[in-house]
Amino acid sequence: MARRSLATDSPGLLERLEADVVLGAEGYLFELERRGYVKSGPFVPEVVLDHPEAVRELHREFLRAGAEVMVAFTYYGHREKMRQIGREAELEPLNRNALAIAREVADEGGALLAGNICNTWAYDPDDPAGSSSRVREMYREQVGWAVEEGADLVIAETNDYLGEALIAADVVREAGLPCVVTFASISETTVDGVPLEQACERAAAAGAEVVGLNCSRGPATMLPLLERVRSAVDCPVAAQPVPFRTTPEEPIFQALRDASGERAFPLGLDPFTCTRSELAEFAVAARKLGVGYIGVCCGGAPHHVRAMAEALGRTVPATRYSPDMSLHPVLGDDAGVHADRFASWLD
Ligand SMILES: [Zn+2]
Repeated sequence: MARRSLATDSPGLLERLEADVVLGAEGYLFELERRGYVKSGPFVPEVVLDHPEAVRELHREFLRAGAEVMVAFTYYGHREKMRQIGREAELEPLNRNALAIAREVADEGGALLAGNICNTWAYDPDDPAGSSSRVREMYREQVGWAVEEGADLVIAETNDYLGEALIAADVVREAGLPCVVTFASISETTVDGVPLEQACERAAAAGAEVVGLNCSRGPATMLPLLERVRSAVDCPVAAQPVPFRTTPEEPIFQALRDASGERAFPLGLDPFTCTRSELAEFAVAARKLGVGYIGVCCGGAPHHVRAMAEALGRTVPATRYSPDMSLHPVLGDDAGVHADRFASWLD
């Protein structure tokens, strides 16, 4: 497996993981939905075709915040979803454009380009033979475009069936790129009944170079599972939680209920959002556990990523504008008379 980037002859994913934590960043779907470019519900990345400048801008923001991997925005950009919204004919341009945009921004800051595949909703554990070949075809076409557009690795994410994740790992292995496989199950087992740490072990055995968890869980409920994954496998582990305050009672963000008992997912999650400091603490805790690939998923934004980068001891382009409360007119060192006049505000 190539340790260096074949596209740029710079350190590839595996070489970087040997040296240090690799900081990732995702959450394109939620962030671009908030900005008015993605429809919540179908969650198809049509923005890549309709407003590519918005995708480019968000990549740049994550890059400036310290992300070392630009993940092509092809999540749910697969045949099944494109058919659902009546744009199947634009499947290939969407994938190629997403990869080209991510490559362009990655090259601005020495980052890696990741192709991205995910759960297809076409896999059926009751019909593994029939559905597997369909899933395999969908992955092959997406991974094929990723290879042609110069991807350095492929991330296969939000896997909820082990059977489907193994197909993804196999297709990426065939393509000769490093593969990150992460699971996002609704419980502590995959939907096809395998404990997540064992699913990770199986994905690694099937050829994934990096395995772990993404999405669904916030930092608080992902960390205990990560510990189990870390002990189960020998390869690098990935962790990309959602930045929401999940709890043992509501361990996934889909389960969070607001004060009136209504489901908060996916449009009412704001009050549960983690602060940047909470994500920074997560990054440090995950590194301590031995997690090598650390990032954020749905809900994550550049301020989270910059705080994580800085907590890991890094200075990144956006650090130039990192907070400096010593210069604040009321909270700062020279607040003087203002601190007195605004004393009630400080109580
Ligand atoms: Zn997510």
